Amino acid sequence: MSHAKFSPSAAHRWISCPGSLVMEKDLPNNSSVQADEGTAAHFLASECLEQNRNATDFLNCFIVIKKGNASWDQEASETRSGFIVDLEMAEYVQKYIDAIRSQADGNELLVEQRVDFSEFIGSENAFGTSDAIIICQNEIQVHDLKYGRTKVDAQGNEQLRLYGLGALAQFGLFGDFKQVRLVIHQPRIGHVSEEVASVEELYEFAHRAKNTVQMIKAIDLGQSLFNETDMLNPGEKQCHWCKAKATCPALTKAVMTTIAGEFDDLSTCDLEVELKQAIESVPSQENETLGKLYASLPLIEQWSKAVSIAVTEKLHNGEKVLGFKLVQGRAGNRSWANAEEAEQVLKSMRLKVEEMYDLKLISPTNAEKLQKAGTIGPRQWTKVENLIVRPDGKPTVAPESDKRPALEINPLNDFETV
Ligand code: SF4
Repeated sequence: MSHAKFSPSAAHRWISCPGSLVMEKDLPNNSSVQADEGTAAHFLASECLEQNRNATDFLNCFIVIKKGNASWDQEASETRSGFIVDLEMAEYVQKYIDAIRSQADGNELLVEQRVDFSEFIGSENAFGTSDAIIICQNEIQVHDLKYGRTKVDAQGNEQLRLYGLGALAQFGLFGDFKQVRLVIHQPRIGHVSEEVASVEELYEFAHRAKNTVQMIKAIDLGQSLFNETDMLNPGEKQCHWCKAKATCPALTKAVMTTIAGEFDDLSTCDLEVELKQAIESVPSQENETLGKLYASLPLIEQWSKAVSIAVTEKLHNGEKVLGFKLVQGRAGNRSWANAEEAEQVLKSMRLKVEEMYDLKLISPTNAEKLQKAGTIGPRQWTKVENLIVRPDGKPTVAPESDKRPALEINPLNDFETV
């Protein structure tokens, strides 16, 4: 195995499942539009903070993404991957910038700061780039912008803790810091989460991370053998973005055991029969068992999606997958080969406007965009706003730890609240 990379952004995975470093080795990095969009938003945020400008100053500018790095470009082009700074991106990024500026007021702000935590985990060249570090009188703050919509909590967040350790290594001598504040900003879902970790807590965490690193290094150096049972540890958090999901034996076994109960060998068990029986037995399960099954659904869904993607990719690559092949799918929706020509022809037939065009009232969300762009004035917006209604959310299953209070359900009145 080549030398393992202890990346902070994947720390939640390799600390919980050390074997993931081995399993993911040699699997390609698939960049996604979402990841590139996040890179663009980070770039915009850092440009604003470093140049002391606001996000709207860059409206309609084009950010090009090349090999995961962002830079400005003159104009958008269909041949390049990139993002135009629109009002929506500017607004979300500005929320983050405002929060950073308010915290940094009177303190020292470092943007896109490289932090090296090698000494804490016992591995050379272990570093990352923190979006913003603020050196206050009594604490160091580590701020992380996350542009995705999946909620991430700062509590126990391994990536931020490694950044916190790196920040302590670099700036710890400049003050008597007793704690590090780790903050995650998710402006797109209005979520800010923070953890205040004492220096001792961070050192304790470093000790655990170091043990994992030692375990991996021993395999790297051929001093110990890769043992699936000890090294692979499936779980929702660590498996979510793991590239080995579709082929990981531990995850497959965990999923199948949850669904169909214990079995010895996946290759000898009749999956179709097992799954059919498992589905039929669901309604009669005890509530306690149902609760456990329900908690496993995200992991099962992640696994089934990964298997589906892997099979599709392999067939597209011309590989054989037992029992499956690629066929021509259903034809797509009809569209005009030349919309302008179609418009002219239909016009020549003297069709009425309402017959020719699908006119639809804009949604409240789009009306709000017009308000933000200044097309709808503040007084006009008050009138529009009064016309917007929003139905109550439907009862939704949530974990016990959810902050919302549980609904009181009266079964006799068929789910009405009492
Ligand atoms: S899929 Fe899950 S259990 Fe398997 S290597 Fe990845 S993180 Fe570990």
